[in-house]
Formats: sequence, structure tokens, C-alpha cells
Amino acid sequence: MSAETCDVAVVGGGPAGLLTALLVARTGAETALVAPAPRPDARTTALLDGSVAILKQAGVWAALKPHAAPLRSLRIVDAGKRLFRAPEALFHAAELGIEAFGWNVPNAVLTQVLAEALRAERSARLIESEATASQPGEQAIEIAFGDGRLSARLAVAADGRKSLLREAAGIGFKSRRAPQDALAFAATHARAHDDVSTELHTAEGPFTFVPMPGGRSSVVWAMTPAHADEALALDRDALSAAATEASFRLLGRLDIDGAVGRFPIVIGAATRFAANRTMLVGEAGHVLPPIGAQGLNLGVRDAAAAARIVSRSRAEGRDPGGDAALGAYARARAADAWTRTAATDLLNRSLLTDFLPAHAARGLGLAAIARIGPLRRFVMREGLVGGPGF
Ligand SMILES: Cc1cc2nc3c(=O)[nH]c(=O)nc-3n(C[C@H](O)[C@H](O)[C@H](O)COP(=O)(O)OP(=O)(O)OC[C@H]3O[C@@H](n4cnc5c(N)ncnc54)[C@H](O)[C@@H]3O)c2cc1C
Repeated sequence: MSAETCDVAVVGGGPAGLLTALLVARTGAETALVAPAPRPDARTTALLDGSVAILKQAGVWAALKPHAAPLRSLRIVDAGKRLFRAPEALFHAAELGIEAFGWNVPNAVLTQVLAEALRAERSARLIESEATASQPGEQAIEIAFGDGRLSARLAVAADGRKSLLREAAGIGFKSRRAPQDALAFAATHARAHDDVSTELHTAEGPFTFVPMPGGRSSVVWAMTPAHADEALALDRDALSAAATEASFRLLGRLDIDGAVGRFPIVIGAATRFAANRTMLVGEAGHVLPPIGAQGLNLGVRDAAAAARIVSRSRAEGRDPGGDAALGAYARARAADAWTRTAATDLLNRSLLTDFLPAHAARGLGLAAIARIGPLRRFVMREGLVGGPGF
């Protein structure tokens, strides 16, 4: 059977893969997305200001905004039972002259809007199938799926944390399972969220409220796997009551509204971000703990960088999967991905440790950032609230 051909094959139809395929197709490159139909996902994603700018440029923000809630302020509360506790820190987007730090968007809406935009692209084609093999060669890379094969100059691995394409490209991945699981659900609450996203730093990990439209919030609650077992054995009312207590009643009584998902917390990063005609985007390249809303925001920047490099290669008449393009992508993404992965890992570990100096450093760091104007604005502008130094 002869292989179909295209310039760029994107494998994986999560948000990172869909956005990459859309942005790459917009460069005029013949693009194929190889992805099975999406699985239901009841989570929401806080997309920071920089990601929203990329989605605006992609022309999809207008369709997303009616479903999104603004994060006008961010609050960090040190809720550990520790000697060194930082005071509560509150950061306002208005201090940076922007409307919101970011917007919280339901994942199902995000993937649907991106998929619709992709379907409307002339240079894009969707292959609703799982990739079963990837074979990088001198001139092209071959992707096998269901009953066909695809030959492309460049493959983009957007096939998640257990990426088949990453492995086929011979790229290593160092990962670690944290002693935590996260429960994720939507909830109504007695007090209004006032467009404030709150991260409570507890001894078992972060407990986060992110505003949703309609006065609800999405909650991500990190805890030990044993506690997650106990929590999930409770009936809905009892789990709502436990979540209310775990949140220190910050928004008053919580009532869980909809499905409760359980996610193991894993931290990992690829040893490089491109090789053998393959670029890694999203969780194929980096997996972060759900703290400080960093995960998909990195994935959005990966997608934009991949498209920029494909566009430049086309303009210069170069091979988009050649060494120059792969090297440019790897250089463009390495620092951002590695530093954010390390920073969120460090912050998460500092919550779990019993080592006092770690609490002192985190407490003093947060206090300093909250008080010192230029440092405060720098941290907010870099999207590092919830990141290093806390
Ligand atoms: C509880 C929780 C809350 C989070 N909140 C935030 C947040 O507020 N902000 C933020 O920025 N990030 C957040 N994240 C992180 C964010 O969810 C991830 O970064 C994001 O989902 C990764 O998207 P992705 O497209 O890279 O991977 P995925 O969503 O995992 O998509 C990978 C896709 O590849 C497909 N696939 C796998 N193998 C193959 C194959 N062989 N062939 C074809 N397709 C394949 C899968 O079916 C899947 O659709 C959160 C994570 C968790 C767990």
C-alpha cells in the first residue's frame, strides 16, 4: 500500500495537537492530523494572557470567550500547618494594565472550537485514527495508522505523556510520580469568587479554585493517593463537605456539580524537544503538576513555536523536518519547558517536605514578591505567580 504524503503530520488531538495542526496549516503547509475522536474531558484550563493572545491571532478566541471566565486577580494562601507561613498574597491584573491574567475555558469547548477551525482549513486534513508506528527516515517520516500510512517531512508528536512518536524518535523522557493525586471537579459555592483564582498551598499539595462563568469554580484538589481513595468512597454530599473543610471555607460551602475526575500527579520532561524529523509539543514534551496553571500554557507556546519554524522553513525553501528546523525548535523551547517544569516541581515538593528551611524560603519568597513592587510586577508579567520563589 503506498503512503499518502503531506508536509507536516501532527499526531494527537488533545488541545496541543489541535492548535499545532491549526497554526501549521495556516502557514500553507499541507497538514494532516492523525487523532482518534476525543475522550470526554470535564476539566477546565486556565489559559494565561500570552496563550489568549495566540488564540486571538489564530482567530478562535471570539468563539471561546463566551464560555470563558476571567481571572482578574490571583490569590495565594499558605495553608500549611507550618512554622514559617507566608502571608496571603493577592495580585491584580489591573496592576499590569491588563483586563485579566488569563481566562478559564472548558476543555471540551476548547477542543471543539479548535477542531472546527481546523476542519475549515483548506490545507488541513483529519485522519480519525490512532497512529500505530512512526519511522523517521533520511528524507521523510512515515506514520502508520489503522488501514493506512502517511509520509511527511516533519511529524509533530502531540500524543501525550506516553508519546509513541517521542519513543520512535529516540528521545528520552525523565519522569517521576509525585506522592499525590488530584481530584478535579466543578463546584458551586456560597460566596462569590469575584473573578479571583485562589491557590491554597496545603501540606498535601495545592487546592485551587479557578473561576468559571455562572459563579461556579473549577476545583483541583491535590492529596495523597490514600486520601484520594477515601475521598472517592464518600457520597457526593460528604465529598462536598470534605472539600469545603479542605478549602478552609474560603468561598463558604461547596457543592460539587458534575463529574469528579482523578489524575495522578506526574512530573517529567523530554531530554530534548526535537530529533529525527519529530518535534514534541504539549505533554509529549513536558508534564507538570497542576500548580500555577502552567501545563497547557507551555503547550500553546510549543504550538506557536512549531508553526513559526515551519513558516520560516517554507519562506526560506528549507526542509521543515531538517536538522536546522529541528535545532531551532529545540533551542526555542528548551529553557521555557525545563525551567517551568523544574519550578513547579520545586514548589510542589516544598509543600510536601518537612524540611523547615524549604518552608522559610517559600514563605519569605512569597512575602518579598507580594511586597516589593518591581519584583511583584516582574513575577506577574512572566506568568510566574505560583511559580519559582514561592
Ligand atoms: C487536574 C488538571 C488540571 C489542569 N489544569 C490546567 C490549567 O488550568 N492550565 C494549564 O495550562 N494546564 C492545566 N493542566 C495541564 C493540561 O491539562 C495539559 O497540559 C494538557 O491537557 C495537555 O494537552 P496535550 O494535548 O499535550 O495532551 P493530551 O490532552 O493528553 O492529548 C494527547 C492526545 O493524544 C492522543 N493520542 C495518544 N496516543 C496516540 C496515538 N498513538 N495516535 C494518535 N493519537 C494519540 C490521545 O488520545 C489524546 O487525545 C491540568 C492538568 C490536570 C491533570
